[in-house]
Amino acid sequence: MTTSSQLFERAQRHIPGGVNSPVRAFKGLGMAPVFIERAQGPYLFDVEGQRYIDYVGSWGPMITGHADPDVLKAVHERVEKGLSFGTPTAIETEMADLICTLVPSMDMVRMVNSGTEATMSAIRLARGHTGRDRIVKFEGCYHGHVDSLLVKAGSGALTHGEPSSPGVPDALAELTITLPYNDIDAVRTLFAERGDDIAAVIVEPVAGNMNCIPPVAGFLEALRDVTDACGSVLIFDEVMTGFRVALGGAQAHYGITPDLTCLGKIVGGGMPVGAFGGKREIMAKLSPLGPVYQAGTLAGNPLAMSAGLTLLNKIRAPHFHERLADKVNQLCDGLEARARAAGIPLLTHRAGGMFGVFFTDQSAVDGFEQATACDAEAFRRFFTLMLEHGVYLAPSPYEAGFMSAAHSDDDIAHTLQAAEEAFARMAA
Ligand code: PLP
Repeated sequence: MTTSSQLFERAQRHIPGGVNSPVRAFKGLGMAPVFIERAQGPYLFDVEGQRYIDYVGSWGPMITGHADPDVLKAVHERVEKGLSFGTPTAIETEMADLICTLVPSMDMVRMVNSGTEATMSAIRLARGHTGRDRIVKFEGCYHGHVDSLLVKAGSGALTHGEPSSPGVPDALAELTITLPYNDIDAVRTLFAERGDDIAAVIVEPVAGNMNCIPPVAGFLEALRDVTDACGSVLIFDEVMTGFRVALGGAQAHYGITPDLTCLGKIVGGGMPVGAFGGKREIMAKLSPLGPVYQAGTLAGNPLAMSAGLTLLNKIRAPHFHERLADKVNQLCDGLEARARAAGIPLLTHRAGGMFGVFFTDQSAVDGFEQATACDAEAFRRFFTLMLEHGVYLAPSPYEAGFMSAAHSDDDIAHTLQAAEEAFARMAA
């Protein structure tokens, strides 16, 4: 039998770091990543035959569980007709109609191949629409590896951005202003001073890339206020939260209407898909209707559309999202109770079908500084012990957890039993 360690060794010969996306490398965890052979429902099965209860769900898409039979059936049927035509297809219109029904702020939508493409294109469109260059993002929010968005804060809210990766030109990074997440005063101060200069504000309406941090009361409202007042475009990056926090995304959950929305993950049902859309007036600036260029050889790919459409139609079932949120509460309440009993400082955040677990004695975690002040070593131990007990959590303290409808009461009970044993070991 080939082990994960052997496969990782081999992978590193021709793949940088042995992975095609950095977080998969388990860097900082002191172990080789687990190589997965197949998945079914809430379970992953590795190449050594070990089963794990999975709370990553391919980083979000697998909201009804892995290898959903309806999604697979739709893809099997579709594959017989050919893989890609590079022409318009009826299924793209079906997808656009459904997205615009489920997310009413979207009058029009363009399909792309990833979340990164969605945010990149939305930023270009916002710049083209406003004729302005500067954009605002928030510390700890990840919007894919777009040059303009791989930027972190300088020494204060009003300083120019610094690239957070070599290869991002300073000239571009200077156009990105980074503010602390959930800091309403910083947003109002910036817009009072230079709001008329700002093309767009892009935000994860629930932050899911510094663990899981929901917006504080009034934060999203403030973003809507200042962008309205200054004619800037408000972009909700709902690549993670879309169809997960609620059927209509975080914008439905919190009742705030953005100008543009970016989607990914669930919208593709596990295939490589993203989408961006919003107000007709802005979307009409997009090529071929308008002058802002954007395109894609495989955009709207029929196989990907059939997977995504099938999944979206499934999660429209009555009470789907309430049930998912109940499962999240069951898990998070259970973790908190067991940690408390073991004397381990821990708090959880929940937002519909996503959640965060923080090893900290801070009373609240509302932003990047507090998230990075949590105990990374405690997370590393917890992660390792849970993996040994057959529970697969995101391999980083800065990633959100994802629940699926396929997780049963027994799966959650097994997870809590594993956590109880892990906490006992950690407290010893
Ligand atoms: N935006 C958010 C909020 C994300 O979480 C991600 C990926 O995790 C992206 C954008 C980028 O999506 P992709 O990895 O499909 O390019």
